[in-house]
Amino acid sequence: MLNYIGRFAPSPSGPLHFGSLLTAVASYLDAKHNDGSWLVRMDDLDPPREIPGAADNILSTLDAYGLHWDGEITYQSQRHDLYEAAVQSLLTNNQAFYCTCSRKQLAEYSSQQDQPTHSPYPGTCREQHTPPNIPFSIRLTTEGAHQPVCINDKLQGRFCQNLITDVGDFIIKRKDLLYAYHLAAVIDDHWQKISHIVRGIDLLDSTPRQTHLQQLLGYNTPHYAHLPVVVNEQGQKLSKQTFAKAIETTQCSRVLWTALSTLGLKPPTLLQHEPPEAILKWGTLSWSTKAIINVTRINSTQITIDV
Ligand SMILES: [Zn+2]
Repeated sequence: MLNYIGRFAPSPSGPLHFGSLLTAVASYLDAKHNDGSWLVRMDDLDPPREIPGAADNILSTLDAYGLHWDGEITYQSQRHDLYEAAVQSLLTNNQAFYCTCSRKQLAEYSSQQDQPTHSPYPGTCREQHTPPNIPFSIRLTTEGAHQPVCINDKLQGRFCQNLITDVGDFIIKRKDLLYAYHLAAVIDDHWQKISHIVRGIDLLDSTPRQTHLQQLLGYNTPHYAHLPVVVNEQGQKLSKQTFAKAIETTQCSRVLWTALSTLGLKPPTLLQHEPPEAILKWGTLSWSTKAIINVTRINSTQITIDV
């Protein structure tokens, strides 16, 4: 077995809800089952969306659930120098360019297309390789990406995307100077030597973009497993927007037991009265991604949970 390093990378835009706990548990168990280490990274790239105290709240919740991480916590907010260096090297290699298109211009362009909701960036500023005097974003060019970019996802199977027609030149640094999630995640995964990524299926669609970035930056591509999304009884994804409840830390064992069952494992009933560490130990020994695949077969990408 290769040296397994996994991670859980929440963004501190609110407390953990059951869906994010499930991702934490799955990535933890997959790492520990494979004798790997499990890192926690705070994806705090977007200050306007963050809630004061959320990062500490997430960390204390993980601790209460017995999800103890290895090593130091990494904060993306402290790593801007690394992201900037990568942006500059992509610019130097003409793999990225300065884009001064306004939102209005892009919207007008889209509305003229056959499929307005699905029209990639028209390439207007592709030749702009010196910084303009007006505010700009920085986009990565997909010009040369004629072959579809494919990943072999452990849970979702082979997933391919044609970056030119499906995505278009995408932003790696925004006009408001914030770095794009794809860029930061790829750099940190490389820097932290992450070998396996277990995360929510909502990120599957952006994985080919990240793989493309990895190739341009000369990084290895980690193994991916995208978990089915968790929905409530109304079929809505559990998220802050659908008012998913923050998970309590008063009944960790019961919630953790439910998380294992939701992931397709069959924890013994009596285990829910044990401390979280004991439940996680059982989960580590019993872990199998095949269990999740069986769950997903019931409803291809959704797990329903009453919380
Ligand atoms: Zn442009």
